Amino acid sequence: MKGKYMLMMNPASYRLDKVSTDYKKIEWSDVSAALGMGSLDEFSYHLGRLIFCDDTTSKKIIITLSIQHLINISKKNNWRTNIKIFTRLSELACFEIVYSTPCKYCHDQPINIAECSNCHGSGYIGLKNCSKYKYASIEKRNWNRRWKKRYEELYKKFLESEQKLNSHIQYHFMT
Ligand SMILES: [Zn+2]
Repeated sequence: MKGKYMLMMNPASYRLDKVSTDYKKIEWSDVSAALGMGSLDEFSYHLGRLIFCDDTTSKKIIITLSIQHLINISKKNNWRTNIKIFTRLSELACFEIVYSTPCKYCHDQPINIAECSNCHGSGYIGLKNCSKYKYASIEKRNWNRRWKKRYEELYKKFLESEQKLNSHIQYHFMT
């Protein structure tokens, strides 16, 4: 879990996987304060509180926003709205973003993350396909045929927000 690396976070490059005693330690309360400064959008702000402060209220807000996002995508694509499954996909996305680990092929390596075929440009390795449909309680065939793509569409929003969050935190603690 990313949150537990909080005290080991390197403020110069925002790496959660590397531990060094030379770095200035950042308390989660400092990160909490940093999240409230500047102009972080609502989704990214609460995602930050979920990842770093393990905030259950923020998790509820993220799930609500995420369901709304799925409803919007559905309207655009003429998908049928299914709140029950949308809720499970949103919970899955929260779980995956918190527990994903840095990609060993492009993290701290001189290759372009955007071109990494291992993590598909996200910089992180998430859950396996089978863990996802099991977590969301969706039957395998149904997942592969219909929900996998929709989930990936949703997860893009989480990854984009995480990137915003990373630059926000990096900016805040470097200056
Ligand atoms: Zn990678």
